[in-house]
Amino acid sequence: MADLSGRITVERAGPPVRVTGVTTLPDRRLLLVHAHPDDESIGTGATMAHYAATGAHVTLVTCTLGEEGEIHVPALAQLCAAEADQLGGYRIGELADACAALGVTDHRFLGGAGRYRDSGMMGMATNEHPRAFWQADLDVAAGHLLEVIREVRPQVLVTYDPNGFYGHPDHIQAHRVAMRGVELAAAEGIAPAKVYWTAMPRSVLDAGLETFTESSDNPFAGIESADELPFGTPDAEIAARIDGTEQHAAKEAAMRAHATQIPANSWLYSIAGNFGGEFMGVEYFTLAVGEKGPGHGPYGWEDDLFAGIAPDAADRSPVAAAGVR
Ligand SMILES: [Zn+2]
Repeated sequence: MADLSGRITVERAGPPVRVTGVTTLPDRRLLLVHAHPDDESIGTGATMAHYAATGAHVTLVTCTLGEEGEIHVPALAQLCAAEADQLGGYRIGELADACAALGVTDHRFLGGAGRYRDSGMMGMATNEHPRAFWQADLDVAAGHLLEVIREVRPQVLVTYDPNGFYGHPDHIQAHRVAMRGVELAAAEGIAPAKVYWTAMPRSVLDAGLETFTESSDNPFAGIESADELPFGTPDAEIAARIDGTEQHAAKEAAMRAHATQIPANSWLYSIAGNFGGEFMGVEYFTLAVGEKGPGHGPYGWEDDLFAGIAPDAADRSPVAAAGVR
């Protein structure tokens, strides 16, 4: 499924998008940089499906194969790193299925599939693996991302905040690589106009915890306040609220494609049951680079990551721009 460049070809409904013919790319182009297969679906699945469905070009760059993940499918338990060490390869297929569910056709692994290995949780010996993403040379890794930026010329890039949303080394590194990639792109005059970081508004988190205390299936048992969690952003600092509730089924299907990682009875699906489309379909972001566009509500939240960005014809001719490099 993956060619030598690391790109996965997936089937989707609707007209095919020819990735290499950059002049055929749509006016709006969104690039997401994620650490492991499944992060794209859990964190930004509704946003990806929303933009894919509305005609934007959505490019996903995944930095590792997620080799160190737990395996929740008993029949596949021996694929784990300590035994056959085949989980990463298996997850290429899961990710392809997830992308198909999201309607995303352009997916690559940073530097090609297998270039960087899942570093495992912070402090584990796996952090020291020679191919661990945590050990990656920042400029080399960002150089791989720059190649994608040159080709796709995204106006909007999405990644994690400096703490990688919750502190996983590969998420922190994905943040660093993405931001360094933006710097390198800026030096060539092709930086995305906006960079967003995934976020969870404090009000949403508080409401979630409150609901959970009343439920028998509480994954945050023992947590009394959102202050105890490594994420949660003051509402005033949120820049964009993307309502992809019409895509909540696509997001759930994408999550279910990652069956080794997310058990069928996962609390994530319990949340979905409790919150319905709000959990599965609405995603939030802070704006790290660029100017906030027009928004709504008390904090002026944008409802579109492309808000305020005028489609730029020059952006649509990266082949011409590429001639100067
Ligand atoms: Zn992850």
